[in-house]
Amino acid sequence: MACCGHKKKTGNTRTSCIACVQKHVGGAEVLITEMRDGYKYMTRAVGELYQAEDEAQDWQDLHNLIRESRINYQTKLIMPDWKVLNKMIVDILIKETT
Ligand SMILES: [Zn+2]
Repeated sequence: MACCGHKKKTGNTRTSCIACVQKHVGGAEVLITEMRDGYKYMTRAVGELYQAEDEAQDWQDLHNLIRESRINYQTKLIMPDWKVLNKMIVDILIKETT
């Protein structure tokens, strides 16, 4: 099991887990916002966004937004909209746990 153990859904190429999506998006945000001395963590940040995208397949809108954010960052260095991503993730987390 490569997941945190949070409640999971199945049916996609990879098990979806909103807690892991949050973990990977958070990891990417830390890496990207702390990269003041160049882009030495860019590949890691892209990898974190890819992991988040892969684990968000059960939530199509969130999955698409993370994918689009990763591609925009990777190809044009456009910063992901962390506020929007955070809100979507937290809304799903609250729904999943209540
Ligand atoms: Zn998990």
